[in-house]
Amino acid sequence: MMNIEKTYAASLDQQDDLANFRNEFYLPKNTIYLDGNSLGLLSKRAENKINDMVESWKHHAIDGWTEGSQPWYYLSEKLGAMSAPLIGAKPEEVMITGSTTINLHQITASFYKPEGKRTKILADTLNFPSDIYALKSQLKLKGYDPDEHLVQVKSKDGHTLSTQDIVEAMTDETAFIVLPGVLYRSGQVLDMQTLTREAHKRDIPIGFDLCHSIGSIPHQLSEWGVDFAFWCTYKHLNAGPGSVAGLYVNEKHLCHEPGLAGWFSSAKDKQFDMEHTLTPAQDAGAYQIGTPHLLSAAPLLGSLEMFQEAGIEKIRKKSLQLTQYFMELIESELTGFGFTIANPRDTAMRGGHVYLEHPDAARICKALKADGVIPDFRKPNGIRLAPVALYNTFTEVWETIQILKTIMKEERYQSYVNERGVIA
Ligand SMILES: *Cc1c(COP(=O)(O)O)cnc(C)c1O
Repeated sequence: MMNIEKTYAASLDQQDDLANFRNEFYLPKNTIYLDGNSLGLLSKRAENKINDMVESWKHHAIDGWTEGSQPWYYLSEKLGAMSAPLIGAKPEEVMITGSTTINLHQITASFYKPEGKRTKILADTLNFPSDIYALKSQLKLKGYDPDEHLVQVKSKDGHTLSTQDIVEAMTDETAFIVLPGVLYRSGQVLDMQTLTREAHKRDIPIGFDLCHSIGSIPHQLSEWGVDFAFWCTYKHLNAGPGSVAGLYVNEKHLCHEPGLAGWFSSAKDKQFDMEHTLTPAQDAGAYQIGTPHLLSAAPLLGSLEMFQEAGIEKIRKKSLQLTQYFMELIESELTGFGFTIANPRDTAMRGGHVYLEHPDAARICKALKADGVIPDFRKPNGIRLAPVALYNTFTEVWETIQILKTIMKEERYQSYVNERGVIA
């Protein structure tokens, strides 16, 4: 029998060995923040690192490239090495650079090599639109019609993808595969290991968009032999709006010229020789293009330090407990109100958030916000609730359920229009 008492939530918080990290974040006042999978919260450590970066500019000016506590010239490499344990990669395989979408362009330009009848890109119908736009534009650049050359695996239930369906779509016409690690709506974790093995049996390079999985679940990219990956750092990694993204390239692909080159693709000791022939870096640094966005990279120094201390295994364990508790309370407290839990239940397939569907989802989200709970709405009828291991509590999950129950009982959502806002 499910324990629905608040004291039970409090007892779970007391047993939580990550509880102290909550004190390191700026929590919006009188608010339960459940949107850390869209924009993670600011931590004091991230803030300090931004301030340090501003100071180093102030005091060192041009010499900041090589002097000060974090010489700028090596910061992307350092942050890449700090990110490596989160994805199970070697330090030299990871770089902090660009944005998610730019890194996908870079990776496609580098690894999509159509030849003979192998010309197609395999993706899926549930991925985030930016990835699909990028892939279509890359096809057009190569003179291919996206309607014919972009194959998108369909979902049978509208929420999840089956490994078998994806594998069946890998044919001798497939030149390149890009899939999400965790789906942004339903939170399904794809079986990256099996998909990689199957792609490689067919000699197809494969990689993953880790926007919703990095900082939320562990990965073993090197061990699985994944060819490439890319991700943003402002969701579960809490590095702030527009913070610099990440990119992983398996060591077997290092030491090549990137598809999109620039002077930061250079071997670091050669870059300032200013030659017109590029000598690419021997590590994932070769996939950088221009001058790093240092002010937007700095917060990651503070943020990643916390992930190092907490450890991704512990984060995953607490995250699964939080979402499990959420689902159990939804089932015992919110029956009869028309909610459907549309995320996978199984712990191997469940990412870091709960995904509820309801015909009035848009205005239920507005009512939740008015009552101090920040969810996020996803068209057409989805409510994402992300209890984040580093800063949310079991008591907040309990309180959210009580607030949601009152909203439904009193039909408070009726006073709002059932449409999304500009940003939803
Ligand atoms: C958040 C997200 C993006 C965003 O791309 P940016 O280049 O950072 O704007 C792309 N893909 C997925 C799957 C995302 O979740």
